[in-house]
Order: sequence, then C-alpha cells, then structure tokens
Amino acid sequence: MNHERSSVLFQQAKAVIPGGVNSPVRAFKSVGADPLFIKKAAGSHIYDEDGNDFVDYVGSWGPMIVGHCHPDILKAVQDTMASGASFGAPTERETILANMVIDAVPSIEMVRMVSSGTEATMSAIRLARGYTGRDKIMKFSGCYHGHSDSLLVKAGSGMATFGVPDSPGVPADFAKHTLTAEFNSLASVKELVAGNRGAIACIIVEPIAGNMGTVPPREGFLEGLREICTNEGIILIFDEVMCGFRVAYGGMQELTGVTPDMTTLGKIIGGGLPVGAFGGTREIMEKLSPAGGIYQAGTLSGNPLAMSAGIATLNILKQPGFYEALEEKSRAVAEGIAKAAKDAGYPIYSTRIGSMFCAFFSKGEVFDWPTASQCDTRAFARYFLGMLDEGVYLAPSQFETAFVSAAHSEADIEKTIAAAAKCFKMIA
Ligand SMILES: *Cc1c(COP(=O)(O)O)cnc(C)c1O
Repeated sequence: MNHERSSVLFQQAKAVIPGGVNSPVRAFKSVGADPLFIKKAAGSHIYDEDGNDFVDYVGSWGPMIVGHCHPDILKAVQDTMASGASFGAPTERETILANMVIDAVPSIEMVRMVSSGTEATMSAIRLARGYTGRDKIMKFSGCYHGHSDSLLVKAGSGMATFGVPDSPGVPADFAKHTLTAEFNSLASVKELVAGNRGAIACIIVEPIAGNMGTVPPREGFLEGLREICTNEGIILIFDEVMCGFRVAYGGMQELTGVTPDMTTLGKIIGGGLPVGAFGGTREIMEKLSPAGGIYQAGTLSGNPLAMSAGIATLNILKQPGFYEALEEKSRAVAEGIAKAAKDAGYPIYSTRIGSMFCAFFSKGEVFDWPTASQCDTRAFARYFLGMLDEGVYLAPSQFETAFVSAAHSEADIEKTIAAAAKCFKMIA
C-alpha cells in the first residue's frame, strides 16, 4: 500500500505542528509508524491522501455512530451555516438539544453545553467542588477524562498515597488533590474514602472504561460506587463522553440502572463537531453561574453548528431499532475477530458492550489498568499494521476502543474478519 503523499504531508506538518499532529494518539507512535493523512470519508469508509480506502473503526474516536457524512447531518449543518455560524447569544437550538439530552439521560435534569469533553469534565469537577465545599477528587487508574490539570494524574507508589502529576506542567500542589483508585476494585475506593473522610468532593468514573481498551464494569462495581457516594456525601460523576448515546440512547446509566449525580457528555452529541456537555440534578446545576456563583463560560458554547449536528444525530438514534441493528453488527464483528484469533491459535481476550469493542492481546482476563497494561503491545502493533495493509483502519493503540457505526455493511464486516484471520495467522 502506497503512503507516499501521507509521508510528505506528515513531514510538512512536523515543521509547524508539534509532532505533526493536533492530538498525540493520532501520531501512530505506539505502533511505530507514521500517520495517514485523511482526505475524505463516507459512511463506514475513510480515504487517505494516497487514495487508499479503509473500513473505519475509529469513527473520529467515537462521534461518528451513524457513519460519516450522513445526509441528515450534512443538511442540518449546511442550513444552519447559511444563517450564521456563531452569535454569542442564545438560540432556540440550545434548548431543543438540552431537552433531548434531559429526556434521554436519567441523571440529567439540567445541562450546560461546552465545546469539548475536556471542558465538560473540568467544569463538572469545579461544580462538584463548589457544591460540596471539598477539594479532593477521586478517579480511576486507566480512565481518561480529558487533559485538564486535576485529571492528568495517576496513582503514586501506593494506593493510599496522594496523586503525582502524569505530565510536566501539572503542579504537584495541584495533583495532590487527586486520589486514584483501581477500576473494578471497590476495596481500593473504600480505602481511599476511609483515609479522606469528609474531604472528597466527587468520584469521576467512565462507567465502561473505554480509554484502556474496552473494560466493562464488573457486576456490582457501579452499584457499589453509588452506595459509597450516597453514604459519604460524595458527588458521583459518570463520564459518558464516550459511552453516552453509544451503548444505549441513555448511555451506561440506562443500561445498568445506576444513576449518578452528574454526567459528562461529548463526542456523539456533537455529530462530529466540537462539543461537550455536563448535567445533573437541578439542585447541583443551579449553583452554576449565572444562576449560582460557580463560574463557567465559553465563547462558542452551544454553537449553532454543533447544536444542529447534535440534534440531527440524536434524531437518527431515536429511530426504532437503531441500537438493535447496531448491536447485531457489533456482535458479528467482535465475535468474528475473536474466532479468527482462536482459529489461528493466537487467542485474545475480547470485550464488548454495544458498539464498543476491544481485542486485548492478553491470555488472561482484563478488568483494570494493571491487567490491561500486561498486553503484548508489540504483537498488537503487528496486527494493527497488518490490518491497515488489508484496508481496515483501527485505532493505533492497544489501549483504545473500536467503534462500529450504523453505516458498517455486511461486506465491511466480512472483509474485517477475513483481514483479522490473515493477520492473526501471521502473528501466531
Ligand atoms: C474523549 C474523552 C474525553 C475528552 O473529550 P475531548 O472532547 O477529547 O476533550 C473525556 N472523557 C472521556 C471518557 C473520553 O472518552
């Protein structure tokens, strides 16, 4: 496969953009290759600058659940654009999308729009701190909530130690307010809560972890978090930026029946345009400025183009049978890949909820970051490059989720499984 033009464009980009990309994981570094520059997309396929055609399982890292260039979304954005891209004043579309989100997501009684998932989680945490009057927050190792300072933190040497920054530029004084527990371990949460009674404002969790591969919550984990938070006066935040409107119309909270106090959203609700949102109970949300005193703002928040794309997307998702059809496709492709691996004598650990799935290059179960980090990332890199060569575009890292869209066809899925069979034979 020819990547000549992508290589030239990457060299040009590297001269003016740090690392040649505007978000690190795009750089293909963890698979030891150079990124492909994308020219266009349609439905379930993307096309690079050299004219190569790929079945796309990245879907812009989650938003493209109905496929690329859906005619309803195109029309909505074009119509809106013709009457003005941004006013910095309220528009009716913001209330329409707010009502759609409130109707869909059990925990949300009021919602505020922002421009990215990072902004949503950052603002939700500020609100939780302001509401409770507490400074500390808890997150889970391997969960990603965007790149704001408080959240770019991993655990120190021991579970009960204070957080240390994950990146230069994050002050240690800041990171020490972030406690890190182990995903799927209520024991690790209880230990931290016991050591920090009355000091923890919120626990933020991806209810299905999608940023260390795809790691579903174990039976009772989310229920346990709910109980601990209720007993301790801690705000429970579900970060559904990835899984909201993805695993079900109402997200993981609809699927599991566990209702957090606050929820963050993004990705799908913008239909491919920059967006984020955070919402929760009326009592908490009314503390937000200008209704209350906790400050949060944004020049492009509730942007007309993003609102139109979001409304058009949700209208497609609301159609009867949408999630059932997506479930069928997703099951077929994830099970097909797992079977191909097994048949090749190279079994993987396969996980899936709805249209999110992951092939972990692990012989054992993956249920948290320590088990995920045991995966054979070098074998994954060979698999990734093999799949790319066969015309299947996966995320360039073992620790990412694959996304299926409604636009994926039976032929796409057959092609993907055949490619996987070939690649696993090569690796085995
Ligand atoms: C993508 C993601 C974010 C960050 O969203 P951005 O729009 O990239 O800032 C936050 N939380 C989760 C769970 C995500 O998957």
